[in-house]
Amino acid sequence: MTKYIFITGGVVSSLGKGLTSGALGMILERMGLTVSMQKLDPYINVDPGTMSPYQHGEVYVADDGAEADLDLGHYERFTHAKISQDSNYTTGRIYSEVIRKERRGDYLGRTVQVIPHITDAIKNGIRKGAAAGADVALTEIGGTVGDIESLPFLEAIRQFSLQEGHKNCLFIHLTLLPYLSASGELKTKPSQQSVSKLREIGITPDILVCRTEKPMTSEMKDKLSLFCNVERGSVIEERDVDFSIYEVPINLMHEGIDKHLLEFVGLPEDTQTDWTDWMELLDTVRSPKHEVEIAVVGKYIQLDDAYKSHYESLAHAGIANHAKVNFRKIAAEDMTKQGAEKLLAGVDGILVPGGFGERGFEGKVLASQYARENGIPYLGVCYGMQAVVIDFARNVLGLEDATTTEFHEDAAEPVIDLMEEQKRIKDMGGTMRLGAFPCDVLPGTRLRELYGTDHISERHRHRFEYNNAYRARLQDAGLVSSGINTDLDLVEAVEISSHPFFVAVQYHPEFKSRPLEPHPLFKGLVEAAVKRSTAPCETAGCE
Ligand code: GLN
Repeated sequence: MTKYIFITGGVVSSLGKGLTSGALGMILERMGLTVSMQKLDPYINVDPGTMSPYQHGEVYVADDGAEADLDLGHYERFTHAKISQDSNYTTGRIYSEVIRKERRGDYLGRTVQVIPHITDAIKNGIRKGAAAGADVALTEIGGTVGDIESLPFLEAIRQFSLQEGHKNCLFIHLTLLPYLSASGELKTKPSQQSVSKLREIGITPDILVCRTEKPMTSEMKDKLSLFCNVERGSVIEERDVDFSIYEVPINLMHEGIDKHLLEFVGLPEDTQTDWTDWMELLDTVRSPKHEVEIAVVGKYIQLDDAYKSHYESLAHAGIANHAKVNFRKIAAEDMTKQGAEKLLAGVDGILVPGGFGERGFEGKVLASQYARENGIPYLGVCYGMQAVVIDFARNVLGLEDATTTEFHEDAAEPVIDLMEEQKRIKDMGGTMRLGAFPCDVLPGTRLRELYGTDHISERHRHRFEYNNAYRARLQDAGLVSSGINTDLDLVEAVEISSHPFFVAVQYHPEFKSRPLEPHPLFKGLVEAAVKRSTAPCETAGCE
């Protein structure tokens, strides 16, 4: 029988609930259990797919095409939970389901209300999220306790625990202890108030996880236990990590969270978990042998969350190459204003991630050109591949007007264009080429060497495609098509054989990289960057 863990957040947003939830999932897996992971988001958009990355950070994509919250990325990176459409419900999605049923007449004349109809739909969502028959289903409630819009979700989990039995549900509240530097103190009051809000709703947390930048004193734990009605041993400190988010599961274990989890799932207290591989990973992060600088040229570069999975994938690739990866974050727009040389000189590698719309796109094309002409390792992802095709068509084939029809509808040389099916679509939400598609990796290519296999499956999220009308000409001029979707006859990957490392893909490899299983393309990019940074300088006059 599945057990349920609910993770709520108090005091402020951005506390790292997703990361903590992922870490809890990982600890449970190391106990030999299977987990499912889910996020409930109180906002009204049906999914984050139509939101600006500035609002929401990256949109994470699952194999089944779900466009979801970026916390699902943490879940996949920390656990083996299978992420799908059922892993992320929003208020908008819950309401649209209920309203659809109301229009169909399913409620047989009754008044449709938040309680019980909306809360029932939320509980159904929680059950669907756990449907894979996992031993433990973890559900994170987005937002902060006290927000008006989270109320139906909190009410739903209260009802849920009543129906499933309290012994089968564990409530974990993640809260912040702000540090007042003037008085040199950590404060517990906001956490007390946040727990009292939860208790008003009828939920008493079983475990209080306290985010803090300084160590907690024993008195502080006593106080939180007393005021929040949480057992003394269940007040857990989660201090800011020293050097890597991968410390979080280990730190939580040191604080004894595993004892509570073992008791909850009914496993013996002395159940052993093996962390050898994880400790080795942390050692590698702590003492790298190399250091490289990778430029990330993006449209939403001011916000790290917009490229979360990219930074994570580069970090994983760094670990695999015993290298510390430093990021040079470059706003794509600045490339056209300041020039590629000024912004990119000295980097060991360049990553151009995905994006939408005209702003900054020419900067991405310049990044491709600069990397191509200067032998700098380059990985292009989605828009970063489309930029490559345009750069190559313009600057190698001499097709000056080569561009994408994304913002030049009447382009004379539409090297990136819509497929016929996409032309008919008018709605923006959930209508891109989404989710996992198979791809054949062509023999004799760098791509084949990197993956070590002929067939791969990677996740997509885009509308536009490499235009096959230009395929033969681009190929003959040296832009090799290395990955093909044979069913749809689409080019999914291109590369330049004579370049130290120049690979660009239409799909999103960043969604499949894991700390212990780095993605081969990111691994290849960082490997080439290490090679470049450690190569003897060939320029006359250099030391
Ligand atoms: N804007 C491009 C498209 O829709 C690329 C999308 C992306 O980079 N995710 O095809």
